[in-house]
Amino acid sequence: MAFDFDLFVIGAGSGGVRAARFAAGFGARVAVAESRYLGGTCVNVGCVPKKLLVYGAHYSEDFEQAHGFGWSAGQPSFDWPTLIANKNREIERLNGIYRNLLVNSGVTLLEAHARIKDPHTVEVDGKTYTAGHILVATGGWPQVPDIPGKEHAITSNEAFFLKTLPRRVLVVGGGYIAVEFASIFNGMGAQTTQVYRGPLFLRGFDQAVREHLRDELVKKGIDLKFDADVARIDKRADGTLAATLKDGSVIETDCVFYATGRRPMLDNLGLENTGVTLDDKGFIAVDDEYRTSEPSILAIGDVIGRVPLTPVALAEGMAVARRLFRPEEYRKVDYKLIPTAVFSLPNIGTVGMTTEEARAAGHTVKLFESRFRPMKLTLTESQEKTLMKLIVDADTDKVLGVHMVGPDAGEIVQGIAIALKAGATKRVFDDTIGIHPTAAEEFVTLR
Ligand code: FAD
Ligand code: NDP
Repeated sequence: MAFDFDLFVIGAGSGGVRAARFAAGFGARVAVAESRYLGGTCVNVGCVPKKLLVYGAHYSEDFEQAHGFGWSAGQPSFDWPTLIANKNREIERLNGIYRNLLVNSGVTLLEAHARIKDPHTVEVDGKTYTAGHILVATGGWPQVPDIPGKEHAITSNEAFFLKTLPRRVLVVGGGYIAVEFASIFNGMGAQTTQVYRGPLFLRGFDQAVREHLRDELVKKGIDLKFDADVARIDKRADGTLAATLKDGSVIETDCVFYATGRRPMLDNLGLENTGVTLDDKGFIAVDDEYRTSEPSILAIGDVIGRVPLTPVALAEGMAVARRLFRPEEYRKVDYKLIPTAVFSLPNIGTVGMTTEEARAAGHTVKLFESRFRPMKLTLTESQEKTLMKLIVDADTDKVLGVHMVGPDAGEIVQGIAIALKAGATKRVFDDTIGIHPTAAEEFVTLR
């Protein structure tokens, strides 16, 4: 049977664009449908604008710290609309780059919502297209618990487009997005409170990392409330929001920002017209080659809820393109030792096991840890401390995990992740000569 396309990709985000471009490069006839924004979450309302805001937020500290190095300037002031306008311009530029990348690779781009009609047919803008394979790469969407007054809350989607910087912000949640945005709002000068339902945020990260970041955020003035949750939000006549916590206390604020996880984006996708099934958390169920239970339909990225990070979606997109159209080059995505960073201020960088995971897996662990004041801060009033930690298997000497909280942690841990992938032992770390003076050299001098 002749199809219009060999591959029809739904969603031009991190995973979808990668799969489409490479499949087209391998000679396949490819179409992509995108309903909202080219580049998806990461480019438009995720990694990229978030990192720009984090850079922006750090300037408040930079101005203060410059005094210690002899610099003085007028009283710094910050204009949120300027930052947002500049950020929007940069994102528009990136949207254009994504459009060119797709079109230049010969992909047919349809900028509208796509709905699956049957396992080989997709409807876009009233027109139907047939395809040998359909790839669902529709990403995720913020999820806000159903509490009275939830309509007064915003999520990361809206935060990137706020007209003004709120004077007071209440951040709800304790994952990546919550701690990153608490740092952004606080750095910009908003009075920031963060509420998390458990005893300590960033569940799943190394305990020492979680405690260290907690202490640093408190030093920077964020009001952290753990074992606390919002029960309802009321809007007063003057526009003030009153968030009532479950213990009955009330926090008055100008903005309630929810970052309580993301659900798969399946809205009006037409999965009911297929045999695609969902897993117990509502994400699309796939096998280890991203095949759904409908043979012609595959799914990758946040919509499968495996590891919701851009580089993982890229790797999955690449794997699908190769498996379908260049099988001789196919390699499975390796989900072991995925490095990750949390762009809080200070940053977290981490790869490999936490102490708790290593012990639970039966390793006898040797821990190497260092806490120090970064050299750049020694001439300043800042009391910020950096944490670096290695987790080593006592029997094999293999480094199981590397964790850091401090400036540029993501940049540093990216390099170290390669050593872990190569199976480095502590001895290899010890035999590596440091680069002096850097913070990173601490990783090869920990004894
Ligand atoms: P997406 O990038 O979400 O793309 C899905 C696309 O599909 C969207 O453009 C959507 O409009 C489109 N779509 C959905 N339904 C349809 C339909 N029916 N028809 C047509 N189009 C449709 N990850 C990192 O690695 N580092 C970070 O620093 C980082 N920061 C983040 C910060 C925030 C605030 C958020 C929300 C996420 C962040 N992430 C980060 C996660 C990262 O953005 C995602 O893991 C990544 O974008 C997932 O890619 P994807 O291709 O699965 O989906
Ligand atoms: P996460 O899953 O990381 O965190 C969700 C947080 O919300 C957790 O602290 C969770 O608590 C809490 N929570 C969940 N449900 C409720 C509820 N009903 N009431 C109160 N609290 C609740 O999600 P995020 O939205 O922060 O981010 C989504 C994903 O995007 C991340 O997991 C990450 O993979 C990716 N991302 C990556 C970034 C990066 O690489 N730097 C940056 C931003 C996002 P509990 O732990 O108790 O369940």
